[in-house]
Amino acid sequence: AFKYGPAREPSEDPKKPKRTAKATEKEPVYELVDSTDTPEATPEISEDEVWDKRVKAALKNLDKGVDQGAAKQIINEIVIHGDEVHWEDIAGLEVAKLALKEAVVYPFLRPDLFRGLREPARGMLLFGPPGTGKTMLARAVATESKSTFFSISASSLTSKYLGESEKLVRALFQLAKALAPSIIFIDEIDSLLSTRSGSGEHEATRRIKTEFLIQWSALQRAAAGKEAKGADSGDASRVLVLAATNLPWAIDEAARRRFVRRQYIPLPEGPVRVQQLRNLLGQQKHTLTERDMRQLEALTEDFSGSDITALAKDAAMGPLRSLGESLLHMKMEDIRPIMLEDFKASLKSIRPSVSKEGLQEYEDWARNFGERA
Ligand code: ADP
Repeated sequence: AFKYGPAREPSEDPKKPKRTAKATEKEPVYELVDSTDTPEATPEISEDEVWDKRVKAALKNLDKGVDQGAAKQIINEIVIHGDEVHWEDIAGLEVAKLALKEAVVYPFLRPDLFRGLREPARGMLLFGPPGTGKTMLARAVATESKSTFFSISASSLTSKYLGESEKLVRALFQLAKALAPSIIFIDEIDSLLSTRSGSGEHEATRRIKTEFLIQWSALQRAAAGKEAKGADSGDASRVLVLAATNLPWAIDEAARRRFVRRQYIPLPEGPVRVQQLRNLLGQQKHTLTERDMRQLEALTEDFSGSDITALAKDAAMGPLRSLGESLLHMKMEDIRPIMLEDFKASLKSIRPSVSKEGLQEYEDWARNFGERA
């Protein structure tokens, strides 16, 4: 994650242009030194430096009511910078990818085309069993739409950050506007918007929920206002709330209705499981044939994407396990390839994490309230 801190000293990186400070009363002003002094220097500044500048400007221009400490915390802990996920990293989920492209990526890249009737939804809920790629999808959306990605789990708002959560929520929405286009990704949204949290049982949780809904509404109003006037797409109109949940039925009705789009992210079908296995085995030495793959497809019924990853990781250990200590002296090329038998052995301990009954609940909810993927 990006760490906010003092800017690098100009002298630290020899590839960067040298800068000299001019004395002024307050802040030093940097000037480019004549490039003939430093022949290797290029006048372009790196992406990190651009980012650094944007962050500083955003922090400087925060509204009065926004807490500086909370804002810095958001930059340090909530904004994910680098470590990108791309569409092709995600196996399957073609319908969901398409829906997200239409709802977010294209409108962010071409806001002028998405006005009036085509105005995009400002929130989307991704729901389905755990480990099916909801988080990966959100990250890919941020990468592909060149957006700043804010990622927070709602349960950390009600536990880790409890007490400072309201400040944090306010800072979150402010910074998202300042650093737009932005995706605010809220994982485990059920723990924030559940019926239970509205019951008065947890006063603090209820307050965070209220603050979240206020901020979100304000964002939606600001975005709509700009659209109506036909002004150029302002910052608020380029902020989208993406939320994910494994417990969609726990979200209360009013909150549910705010997510106009609700996208079901189901378990992967057989061919998608095979595709994911192929991707995972891509760089590894293995002997798996087409036929073996078809067997694995049948043996991994009801596995989620993360179950498949866990299975492949465990199977990949197979060739090393039988070696014991002697692996320490083995040459890489003498290690045997991964085989179907390794997968079969791993299948004894790695089982699907969602039960048949559990799955039915998702299917039912999707039929009543969702869009199919
Ligand atoms: P969720 O947010 O739905 O609980 P994640 O997106 O966090 O699930 O996925 C957890 C892990 O499982 C990922 O890091 C990845 O290794 C694997 N995974 C899940 N779904 C997929 C998928 N569709 N394609 C590739 N890997 C996946």
